[in-house]
Amino acid sequence: MFEQIIDEFSFDHPTNKGYGKSKKLRQLSSGDPQFATIERLFIKGWKHPKKLRPKIQGIFKVLAPETTISPYLRYRESVTASPALRNRTKNPANEQYLFHGTNRYCRLVEDGNRLRLCSLSKCHLCSILRDSFDVSRCGSKHKFRRFGTGIYTSTCSSKADDYTLNGDESSSLRVLLVNRVVVGNPHKRQHNATELTEPPSGYHSVIGKPGGDLNYEETVIYNNDAIRPAFLIVYGDTPLSETKSKVRTVLKNLFKTPLAA
Ligand SMILES: [Zn+2]
Repeated sequence: MFEQIIDEFSFDHPTNKGYGKSKKLRQLSSGDPQFATIERLFIKGWKHPKKLRPKIQGIFKVLAPETTISPYLRYRESVTASPALRNRTKNPANEQYLFHGTNRYCRLVEDGNRLRLCSLSKCHLCSILRDSFDVSRCGSKHKFRRFGTGIYTSTCSSKADDYTLNGDESSSLRVLLVNRVVVGNPHKRQHNATELTEPPSGYHSVIGKPGGDLNYEETVIYNNDAIRPAFLIVYGDTPLSETKSKVRTVLKNLFKTPLAA
């Protein structure tokens, strides 16, 4: 009998029972093999010699409805038909886990584990977690686009960290998105090409190689369906359980007595 394979990030997958539109983030236990995989990528990708590598406080899996996941899977499948990828047997679409840093204006994952997305239009993090990436919104904050109008990701976690921004200054943690990216057949270059709106013919992405104009690698894709958020890494000095809401902190300071938990 034909058995349909359900994507592991789908609400419909058996491991994601109880999750849905208002509950999209599933925390991974530190013993979960995927926790170890993502942690390893984060550590390996932390390359800036002058930036101290922060401590990971939690990793969440980003779940989504089938309507969000299907276009990604279709695109991933279509890429494998490319002549350049014909001989790949393992990972035929050259799918990679890559980092993306963005702004967060709410206190998602803080306040003793707040997991509900906010609806602030300037909170790009919640927007990406809700509807995935949108080329037309990407880079609107940064005028200089080295490889044109695309969605920028990197294997370098410390570089992606440069693009994270906490809009709420009372936040004590930082977050990075780890994304599934269909890299396909990448066009590799060392020099800027700021006018690009799509990869050169026969390619699916542009990889900027360090050496010429860049110090650290970046991978750019130009199609919304070539990427989906997959994990959220939370890092910094404060354990998740100790992130308190502002109201509670204010009340606590006011009365100088501990509030009941
Ligand atoms: Zn938000």
